[in-house]
Amino acid sequence: MEENTASGLREQQLRRKRIRKIKSTIVAGMAAWILVTSILTITLLVKLFHMENRLNELAQSIISVEQVVENVNEKSAPSPEGSAGTSNMPGEMQDGLENAHKEGQKQKVYLTFDDGPSENTAKILDILKEKNIKATFFVIGQEDKKSKELYQRIVSEGHTLGMHSFSHKYNVIYESLEAFSEDVAHLQSYLAEVTGVTPEIMRFPGGSRNQVSNTDMTEFIRFLNEKNITYYDWNVASGDATSQAYTPDELVENVMNDVGRYETSIVLMHDAANKSSTVEALVPMIEKLQEMGVELLAIDENTTLIQQIPADSVK
Ligand SMILES: [Zn+2]
Repeated sequence: MEENTASGLREQQLRRKRIRKIKSTIVAGMAAWILVTSILTITLLVKLFHMENRLNELAQSIISVEQVVENVNEKSAPSPEGSAGTSNMPGEMQDGLENAHKEGQKQKVYLTFDDGPSENTAKILDILKEKNIKATFFVIGQEDKKSKELYQRIVSEGHTLGMHSFSHKYNVIYESLEAFSEDVAHLQSYLAEVTGVTPEIMRFPGGSRNQVSNTDMTEFIRFLNEKNITYYDWNVASGDATSQAYTPDELVENVMNDVGRYETSIVLMHDAANKSSTVEALVPMIEKLQEMGVELLAIDENTTLIQQIPADSVK
């Protein structure tokens, strides 16, 4: 009887020991699992962070390429003297003699911003609102929530929403008419969906006289004509597209130097995260233009066409 009790006790102790062992194995296993998943998560997060940085770098370099292209284009644009005189460039800019400023004439200035929405769009919109000025934004396709709100703000605050291609990738959109038309149709329907307004004007990335397109630009202009989309180049460049880092004062000066010459000035500026000088230049630029007595307007159907390749010459 006593022996039975003793062996029962021993068995109980053994069982408890086994249970304890199983328990600690489970706990150790769980701890190991948590450790491994934590390490994996951290590693993945670090990798994600690096990839994000890399993406930002890539985006930055794409913008730089564009700046170079737009810079080249600006330099190749015929001077007003050239287009009024003996320039033999095919398709002269329509801002020659007839667009030269004549005494007593009310001058019109159209501020235009390419490449947005960006981190600076809201700041630009705030300034325009404060100064009660309407402008034109030639935007690209961005599908995040913040960008969608910015497209809506551009429209609801009375500015003109223009297209600048969805992808802004020269090698893609200028590869063929098919690629270009798909991109434009995509951007147009996307902006219509987001804002309720179908944009009807466009600025070619790099301008209509860009030197990167593999396809004859008149093919794209013909397509835009068919779709009743009007394209605009510019005749005044703030200089913010150049690699040269202009100060805000210099940007203002660049604009003021050229605006005096024309009846209609279309001013090229950029709405991009790395263009804070443009934002800083905006208040003094608007004030100087107002002192000059010019009208500051958003592009509409009455705006004089500023096109390096006149759209009506393309049949
Ligand atoms: Zn651009």
